[in-house]
Amino acid sequence: MPRPIIATLDTAALTSNLAVVRRHAPNARVWSVVKANAYGHGLNAVWQQLQQTDGFALLDLNEAITLREEGWQGPILLLEGFFQPTDLAEIDRYRLTTTVHSTWQIDALARMIPLAPFDIYLKLNSGMNRLGFNEQQLHTAWQALSALKQVASLTLMTHFAYADIPEGIAEQMAVVYRVGEGLHGPRCLANSAATLWHPTTHWQWIRPGIILYGASPSGDWKHVADSGLRPVMTLHSELIAVQQVPAAGRIGYGGYYRSEETQRIGVVACGYADGYPRHAPTGTPIWVDGVCTRTLGTVSMDMLMVDLQPCPQARIGSPVEFWGNHIKIDDVATRAGTLGYELMSSLAPRVPINIL
Ligand SMILES: *Cc1c(COP(=O)(O)O)cnc(C)c1O
Repeated sequence: MPRPIIATLDTAALTSNLAVVRRHAPNARVWSVVKANAYGHGLNAVWQQLQQTDGFALLDLNEAITLREEGWQGPILLLEGFFQPTDLAEIDRYRLTTTVHSTWQIDALARMIPLAPFDIYLKLNSGMNRLGFNEQQLHTAWQALSALKQVASLTLMTHFAYADIPEGIAEQMAVVYRVGEGLHGPRCLANSAATLWHPTTHWQWIRPGIILYGASPSGDWKHVADSGLRPVMTLHSELIAVQQVPAAGRIGYGGYYRSEETQRIGVVACGYADGYPRHAPTGTPIWVDGVCTRTLGTVSMDMLMVDLQPCPQARIGSPVEFWGNHIKIDDVATRAGTLGYELMSSLAPRVPINIL
């Protein structure tokens, strides 16, 4: 028998989350972001379920090719563009839409002879200072691309750095408006946070990721609790041992947690090598035998310990949920000082995925 840890995917929740996206942005077309193996959920299971989308966005050329070869015929966007001039041959062959964020990429396009001209997303650095041409450089890049016979269409793209806080888009939108004057073509600006909270960013295409998987772009589930989003992944396992710890007994590596009195604790088959965060401190919420309780002590590589005080019926074999419908991934992430994004995409390959 394998270890009892499993990630179960509620694929109906994906469809339902895409419907939430469409309700928020009824006039925009949707790039469903499936980078990083669909945020750890598995590209294959996710794209099969999201075929009502208008396109898929990711950044690994091999994932894009896999998506084509598995049968997706619609648009595929490479969010970081290409990494080598030679990538263009595959982008051409598999009919991929690519981002252009640097001058060398324009030169590479100008030097090649594609089977058919490319759809290009021109990346504006509107203030995040990660990828893209800045306000001063963008028009030159736009004109250079427009003049190329290798280019079929140009879309203006930018990415927001803090669309999850109020007014978080104002400065970057001001840049988009200034730069966009006189540039004819579609715009693609919004990530999940802008999709939910900033309708002025929607324009022709949006690029939601995290909300399709049912977690909050702000890291706080309260911000999306009323939106109808449903968690797609449930990570669950079982108790594999129960210990009666004497008063003042130390629990786990380092012995950081000490019981005040005699305490019944459970040992769960899941550790940081499965993707559970090692930095989750004592007190991180966890669902055991139908009850919300807490973790105790340091998370080990393959196991962690839980307080069985609130669930006296729990015994070896009792079910444990780390995140899913009962425990929000955002709440675990907050306790561990991270985001749902990191927890999902860090699910270890050794955890079997069960698709509902
Ligand atoms: C990851 C990513 C997105 C999606 O971001 P979410 O916050 O998950 O919605 C959109 N655009 C770009 C360029 C990205 O890298």
